[in-house]
Amino acid sequence: MPKKKFVYSFGAGVAEGDGTMKELLGGKGAGLHEMTKIGLPVPAGFTITTEVCDLFFKSGKKWPEGLEKEVQKHLKQLEKTTGKTLGDPRDPLLVSVRSGAPVSMPGMMETILNLGLTDASVEGLAAKTGNRRFALDAYRRFIMMYGSTAMGIEREEFDKAFDEIKAKRTRARLGIPADQKVNDTDVNEEELDELIKMFKKIYREHIKVDFPQDPWEQLKGAIDAVFNSWMADKAVTYRKVEKLVGIKGTAVNVVQMVFGNKGETSGTGVCFTRDPNSGENVFYGDYLVNAQGEDVVAGIRTPIRLAELDKRDPKVYKQLVDIRRKLEKHYRDMQDLEFTVEEGKLYMLQCRTGKRSPIAAFRIAVDMVKEGLISKEEAILRIKASDIEGIFYPMIDKSKPEELKKAFLVQGIDAVPGAATGKVVFNAKDAEEWAAKGEKVILVRKETSPEDVGGMHAAQGILTATGGKTSHAAVVARGWGKTCIVGCEKLDIDYEKGIFAVGETVIKEGDYITLDGGTGNVYKGQLKLVKPEPPKAYTTLMSWVDKIRTLKVRTNADTPYDAEKARQLGAEGIGLCRTEHMFFDSEERILAIREMIIADDLESRKKALAKLLPFQTKDFEGIFKAMDGLPVTIRLIDPPLHEFVPHDEEGQRALAKAVGVSFEKVVQRVEQLHEANPMLGHRGCRLAITYPEILDMQVTAIITAACNMTKKGIKVLPEIMIPLVIDDKELKILETRTREVADAIIAKSGIKLSYMVGTMIEVPRAALLADRIATVAEFFSFGTNDLTQMTLGLSRDDAGKFLPDYVDEKKAGVFKADPFQSLDQDGVGMLIRMGIEKGRSVRPKLKVGICGEHGGDPASVKFCHRVGMNYVSSSPFRVPISRLAAAQAVVEETASAKKPGKNRGRPAKKASAVAPKKTSTRGRKPASAVRAVSASSAASAAPKRRGRPLGSKNKNK
Ligand code: ADP
Ligand code: MG
Ligand code: MG
Repeated sequence: MPKKKFVYSFGAGVAEGDGTMKELLGGKGAGLHEMTKIGLPVPAGFTITTEVCDLFFKSGKKWPEGLEKEVQKHLKQLEKTTGKTLGDPRDPLLVSVRSGAPVSMPGMMETILNLGLTDASVEGLAAKTGNRRFALDAYRRFIMMYGSTAMGIEREEFDKAFDEIKAKRTRARLGIPADQKVNDTDVNEEELDELIKMFKKIYREHIKVDFPQDPWEQLKGAIDAVFNSWMADKAVTYRKVEKLVGIKGTAVNVVQMVFGNKGETSGTGVCFTRDPNSGENVFYGDYLVNAQGEDVVAGIRTPIRLAELDKRDPKVYKQLVDIRRKLEKHYRDMQDLEFTVEEGKLYMLQCRTGKRSPIAAFRIAVDMVKEGLISKEEAILRIKASDIEGIFYPMIDKSKPEELKKAFLVQGIDAVPGAATGKVVFNAKDAEEWAAKGEKVILVRKETSPEDVGGMHAAQGILTATGGKTSHAAVVARGWGKTCIVGCEKLDIDYEKGIFAVGETVIKEGDYITLDGGTGNVYKGQLKLVKPEPPKAYTTLMSWVDKIRTLKVRTNADTPYDAEKARQLGAEGIGLCRTEHMFFDSEERILAIREMIIADDLESRKKALAKLLPFQTKDFEGIFKAMDGLPVTIRLIDPPLHEFVPHDEEGQRALAKAVGVSFEKVVQRVEQLHEANPMLGHRGCRLAITYPEILDMQVTAIITAACNMTKKGIKVLPEIMIPLVIDDKELKILETRTREVADAIIAKSGIKLSYMVGTMIEVPRAALLADRIATVAEFFSFGTNDLTQMTLGLSRDDAGKFLPDYVDEKKAGVFKADPFQSLDQDGVGMLIRMGIEKGRSVRPKLKVGICGEHGGDPASVKFCHRVGMNYVSSSPFRVPISRLAAAQAVVEETASAKKPGKNRGRPAKKASAVAPKKTSTRGRKPASAVRAVSASSAASAAPKRRGRPLGSKNKNK
């Protein structure tokens, strides 16, 4: 095998890599190579691949064989391109050493600037540029960044020294009054000389050796530091919250330095090619004069808006506007750009797909289709489940403006829209702990840092005293669609006392505040939040989604209210109506069911059931009405009976009195019901085998309701579902009885009503014997909650104690995601695939769906599409998410079928994971072909419109 290439160079208009190589070169690296290729002004450099990072950790943090030589070779080339040499005391080459993973993790990993400066070369830089202050400023930044990121010295140590110089010397020299801030730019040459001495002393004290004066040693140390930052806690946490798995590591970009800190005609900026909040097609960004690197993002000084740059330096601004247009056309997506201006000359330092708010995600996707930049299919792929969640985020109820005015506290910069209310906490750890206890919190900080991601994620909203719209807090919160207000400079935060003040008003930890991210307004107290109307772009995009998808989306709903809500969100029926929830609805009902349970002869049981009948009938009428014209799957009683009886003495005494039996008898009956392992006990259809009269009552209620509603002109499509079946004979008994009861009622009512009887597949045995079961069942619904716990042998209610370790990549890392949230496609998925295939082998038109939690998880929904299900069912508010995932499944499938060559790689492997075993002997097939084998052998009932392209005239070649 030829040796792997570890390093890729770019510069002077030529690049060894390109924009498609994100996986290998990281997002930042791929962007730098691509921008170089298309002729943008990018400083030269080279990229060390993500594979090297992987090897680095696999070998106990050692450089792989040959890397050192390769880096040296590319460094030589960089020196040739730039005409400067690393460490040259007369005119040194300086570089930045930058992290950059395949997916953007803003601020999570490290970057070191101005590398190559030493005591000797800093004077060379000073002489060459004729700006000694600038050279010293660069050196102090380098010592601090190298000392903290590569060597692990607390950054605060350096900050303290800097503050000391400012306080003791700069303030006095310039006569700055005590209530005014001393800026970094106020510090002069002598003071910087002094500061560098202090920095080097700090370094020596901690590391026990002098600050390295050999640039090669610096470079190696910095590369190691970037690799190590991949596994830093904050980066690992970020990947966990973002559910980023299977990424090799970070690349390292070594890039020639350009300088935004050379004075008034220099500066550094961050911008987006469209407004990342509203999605509007306007140029958007921040610029900081005479600054370097992180100064903008860290919110050290408040930046100016991009429009002001137009006034300061119209030439640079115009160039930037051209680049904006060029890059959007090139990448066909909104870009997030970083640039630096060195004495009036523009350099591009980064471009990546920009993070955006949920509203912006819809608007940009739809606008770009209209502009002819992308196809509808691409637009669909660009929306994430979290964007849909974000669209429905609450807003402040503005119906009572006087109250709003009274509650108003202060206004900051509106960084991420939406509204949030919660109790004030002042650090990320508290945010996580309080949230874990079920509290809603607002994280209030002077500024946020990447260490805070866990707490930021746990909070309802984020409020910071510093920063602009492109600061760390804003960028991270935007990615999550989380309400965020930054740059609220009037906040006077005292972490120690746990308070913040705005003028006279003092807010304590634990007090409620409310944020309006749309206006930047902060309010005292807990204001009422309301659901917004989804924007037009949402409706447009979802109409494309519904056109393309073939998988139906139903909902799990137990009440007419939920049913109606789900229908508004696009549900096409009910996939699971849990009848037992109705029993808890009122005192009267729960009493009747309890009476039924403690009864010890058939007659009294029937008497109690008769009391429940009118309630259930009425409930079903409401549900059928809400679902007029759509199928409704109703599951017969499922949980073990002991879940319905009181377990405390007081409750048992009350029950005894209400029903008119002795307390002892109630106690005795409750004891009888006790089970050692209720999960595997007397539940599901086993109850109906023992007590068929329960089934009689429920079927009577369903069919009576159906007949009543039909008479009223409502179209009713009932599907009666028998849960937890393990055998066809068992199912046959219950199916026969169901039909006897139902048919008698229908005959008596004199109307025509068709209904279905089917079963849940949720015990492995049922999946294994699916061909026998399908001779009786007219439909299958995979109950993947139970099927997962029984297949894995893990109790869902107890797994919380240890399952997180199985998902944690630093611990066991057995599962990529919690199998109770995202379907275990390998194990449980195999049973599902087999169940469908066997079922349809005897009943080709068998209708198949899923009704576990997984019906609302995008990855699982896509799986359901691939294995040929007819529908998924999810909780009402996840219905739009499932619709989107179902459409994405079609687009992904068509895309992988179109690229036969590419199927030798990853997509084909993914597809074979869902294909039944026997197809693997047929060799590798495109994903869709494999799916067709698995479904078509059995599935004439499988949806037929698979993969029909949308509006193909917009398709990109
Ligand atoms: P992040 O991934 O956190 O954005 P970057 O690697 O982009 O980190 O570096 C952060 C900032 O450092 C950049 O936005 C840029 O301002 C500055 N920077 C990085 N490399 C250079 C360089 N070669 N010349 C000038 N500034 C640089
Ligand atoms: Mg950057
Ligand atoms: Mg179940």
